[in-house]
Amino acid sequence: MVAVRSFVVASQHEVRGGCVWPGGEPAPDGPYTARATVMLRVIPAGKGGSVTEPDRRRAAILTVDDDPDVSRAVARDLRRHYGDAHRIVRAESAAAGLDALRQMKLRGDLVAVILADYRMPEMNGIEFLEQAMDVYPGARRALLTAYADTGAAIDAINVVDLDYYLLKPWDPPEEKLYPVVDSLLEAWQSADYRPVPETKVVGHRWSARSSQVREFLARNQVPYRWYGSDEPEGRRLLQAAGADGERLPLVVTPDGEALVEPSDQELASRVGLATTPSEAFYDLIVIGGGPAGLGAAVYGASEGLRTVLVERTATGGQAGQSSRIENYLGFPDGVSGAQLTDRARRQATKFGAELLTAREVVGLEVHGSARRVVFGDGSVVDAHTVILATGVTYRQLAVPGVPELTGRGVFYGSALTEATSCTDHDVYIVGGANSAGQAAVYLARTARSVTMLVRGESLEKSMSHYLVQQVAGLPAITVRTCTETVAADGTDHLERLTLRNAATGATETVKAQWLFVFIGAAPLTDWLDGVVQRDERGFILAGPDLVPGGDRPRGWPLDRPPYHLETSVPGVFVAGDVRAESAKRVASAVGEGAMAVMLVHRYLEKL
Ligand SMILES: Cc1cc2nc3c(=O)[nH]c(=O)nc-3n(C[C@H](O)[C@H](O)[C@H](O)COP(=O)(O)OP(=O)(O)OC[C@H]3O[C@@H](n4cnc5c(N)ncnc54)[C@H](O)[C@@H]3O)c2cc1C
Repeated sequence: MVAVRSFVVASQHEVRGGCVWPGGEPAPDGPYTARATVMLRVIPAGKGGSVTEPDRRRAAILTVDDDPDVSRAVARDLRRHYGDAHRIVRAESAAAGLDALRQMKLRGDLVAVILADYRMPEMNGIEFLEQAMDVYPGARRALLTAYADTGAAIDAINVVDLDYYLLKPWDPPEEKLYPVVDSLLEAWQSADYRPVPETKVVGHRWSARSSQVREFLARNQVPYRWYGSDEPEGRRLLQAAGADGERLPLVVTPDGEALVEPSDQELASRVGLATTPSEAFYDLIVIGGGPAGLGAAVYGASEGLRTVLVERTATGGQAGQSSRIENYLGFPDGVSGAQLTDRARRQATKFGAELLTAREVVGLEVHGSARRVVFGDGSVVDAHTVILATGVTYRQLAVPGVPELTGRGVFYGSALTEATSCTDHDVYIVGGANSAGQAAVYLARTARSVTMLVRGESLEKSMSHYLVQQVAGLPAITVRTCTETVAADGTDHLERLTLRNAATGATETVKAQWLFVFIGAAPLTDWLDGVVQRDERGFILAGPDLVPGGDRPRGWPLDRPPYHLETSVPGVFVAGDVRAESAKRVASAVGEGAMAVMLVHRYLEKL
């Protein structure tokens, strides 16, 4: 038994069912196991290669006939008249025709017209069109029949809402074929069946993994379209991919590849994000892709250092989740975290930095003058120097019910991704600092009401003045001070919250579908234990903080003291929020990233 990719071959616009080896060679005869992941390969006539983007955008006319001579003749006549404006796709069996439709569906291609022969051995034309309608309900349909079959064709008008039946032979086509196809195309054009060439995600609204995948794509600026698994188009995509809908989400890449419950790394590599370093050794490895890490990558690469940045989830870090950063220098009208991240990413890659996504670093080792970074899967990459820019991670709300409902109505920092789903709903936010205020202002644009649950007595103590004013100016926002969230519950998703008044101790239960949590953050640096010195909360010590009494850090091997942002390991630097006593601002993180690179140069000069 040989595993191959099932696929459809086409020459100029002709499609035949068949199989190829992954390398592209036709597979030898034999029993095949077709994988769920299938690709459409369309090879232009006389050339090899795949169909071009503009070609894919041309709506297809599919013709299915099991008689090769008739099949070729129909395709030839169609191509002669419609070849410039449409892609003519030909299949020699109902199964191959359905296969072709499913591939095109996954790729987001347009199909305008389907012409099917009535008498086919494995399934007749009506049965074929019935199944084709499940995949492309908008495509107009016609049946090719012999005179003797006209009764069946008339019946088919009711079964598959047939638009036409065409009698064979159709000579001359100018009189018998083209006027029919013209009117089918006209009918199709008047309806709105736009293609969706970007990544498609089919998931369940209250599935934690579905929302993580959306968040991952959104934060990595991968355009995608979301379909509920219970929507008609969602069901069609599941069917086209051969997925049962039990395991969600289904992600369909722009190439038509179907991924069921993909991991972040799998997703990253299939949607065009780099996940593997191209070299074994660099001048500089930056760990963390927030403002500090991106700043370091821009300055490192622009100053000629071979630089690779490794990011666990998505570049942008915390800042990438901010709806509007209003205090970053040079943006008087504010800038969204997504815009800032997009610009920084482009800037870093323009200068030649490699950006790896969905790769978590779990270890740092010292091997002589080399610094080794260990990934979660055990692979490694080495460099002369390392900048730790791992920032901080949201603190979890430790109350009953919240862990189970995370991603099912309870979210950490995903206000931007979920905002449209909250339209006209009542939303709760836990937290009273700037990040909570920004989320409240953002969500108030679409939600029916936003209630901020704040433990303290007022917002003024924890939030910047400008944001307090914005919150106060929005009637949709209510601020409940002295209020703690003590429980969350619901069966499939969040349904209720229990709140306690911190002053009186009185509790009340409110109906709630959406809870966004912004209660501060902590550095996740346990993996650096025993390698670099940290303070009691896990923040990394550097420069003067390592030599409080003038003593060098334990095990420090050099004559000079650590440079300003250098950790207790020479050649390993720290920048941004993960540094002890850092400012926790975008501007200071970017500044520290740039400054760390300057110190990397100083270190390399003396290596
Ligand atoms: C919602 C929100 C709004 C904010 N608004 C403002 C504002 O308006 N103005 C302002 O000045 N500041 C604001 N801040 C704060 C600001 O975003 C942070 O100070 C800044 O992002 C810190 O940058 P950083 O690069 O040090 O860390 P982070 O932004 O935390 O980035 C660290 C990155 O490292 C990655 N990482 C962590 N561990 C690993 C690992 N082991 N391997 C690989 N990668 C790893 C993380 O996934 C993350 O992407 C806001 C923060 C939030 C959450």
